[in-house]
Amino acid sequence: MKEIILVKMGELTLKGLNKHNFENALVRNVRLALADMGDVKVQNAQSALYVVPECEDFDMDEAAKRVGQVFGIVQYSRAARVEKDFSAICEAAAEYLGEELDAANTFKVNAKRADKSFPMASPAICAELGAYLLDKFPHLTVDVHEPDVTVTVEVRDFGAYIHGRQLHGAGGIPVGTGGKAAILISGGIDSPVAAWTIAKRGVELTPIHFASPPYTSERAEMKVITLLEKVALYSGPMTLRIVPFTEIQEAIVEKCPEDLFTIIMRRFMMKLAERIAILTKNQALVTGESLGQVASQTIQAIGCTDEAVKTMPVFRPLIGMDKEEIIRIARRIDTFETSIQPYEDCCTVFTPKHPRTRPVLDKVIEAEKALDTEALIQRAIEGIRRVKIGVER
Ligand code: ATP
Ligand code: MG
Repeated sequence: MKEIILVKMGELTLKGLNKHNFENALVRNVRLALADMGDVKVQNAQSALYVVPECEDFDMDEAAKRVGQVFGIVQYSRAARVEKDFSAICEAAAEYLGEELDAANTFKVNAKRADKSFPMASPAICAELGAYLLDKFPHLTVDVHEPDVTVTVEVRDFGAYIHGRQLHGAGGIPVGTGGKAAILISGGIDSPVAAWTIAKRGVELTPIHFASPPYTSERAEMKVITLLEKVALYSGPMTLRIVPFTEIQEAIVEKCPEDLFTIIMRRFMMKLAERIAILTKNQALVTGESLGQVASQTIQAIGCTDEAVKTMPVFRPLIGMDKEEIIRIARRIDTFETSIQPYEDCCTVFTPKHPRTRPVLDKVIEAEKALDTEALIQRAIEGIRRVKIGVER
């Protein structure tokens, strides 16, 4: 008997012709997620993935946790693998699920025979394994509707698999099958959640962070890196671009009306992000904006921000969410506690006392004429630093 992880794929099964791409991406992403855990084989057959440890002291708890974070997986379970022999199946079920069956009052057997060359049909497996287990665990009774334990037997390509509880996977689509998008990432609560939400749809991310030293500190950058390391457990590895933003902010403060600081700064972020997205072959931008949350996120302000981007869509996955809903996801993906650490962000450094909540685009564009936008953007791009996040591909 050998313990493995049996993975059921998600929306993949719906994807017809693209199925192979999706399955290959999922295999690659599961391998990446387990890359530093020792010898392990990841195989794909019959619309399932098999994660098979090839070394003695493989940490199955950790592996199962990581598999649960890979997008594209709906359900998975830890399972005992034995040869396709009925008495071996019976013995393995009693041993592998012994503790759970000891603690239960009721159970049922659920059998799936994907390998039709196996001599017993599913109902016969259910009936005979059920009888065997009743004999071994005489305190149990069968309950086919609401059993405490469901003993599942799957007779498949490489063997027979016995498992108890099905675990919920992260859902979504495998990262790498949905194109690439550049995410504007701050140290706040929202943008890491936006990153996770878009990665869930199969999109590979290029994170961009604007830093304004000396107004913002190295610790603020470390916070962003910590947040992205947490997102990378789901999204896979990525390369962060840290963009120097001080000169731009100082120029805005010096040359533009105070009530437009924020909107002009945000338009610069978008223009720079678009430029970087093109250079790094991304097809969209992503932000953590949510309608009405702050002065820069009114419909009018978002309209002005949006106008700065000319060649690609801007996704705002949190646009209709309440802060509570966003925080719930932040807690689930374990970014919340890091996000609420109080380090300064470049957005808060030069916040005007009375930001305009309904900026008028013509006025904003007029005010921007005082700046040498192209030269500022060029110099910022020249100063970009790269930081690797997650396991190297
Ligand atoms: P967050 O919690 O993500 O910081 P927020 O509610 O604080 O969002 P803003 O500070 O107005 O809102 O930022 C809106 C969006 O702009 C962020 O979600 C993020 O996508 C982007 N952004 C803000 N600051 C930065 C930064 N320093 N670097 C990169 N992107 C940023
Ligand atoms: Mg913020």
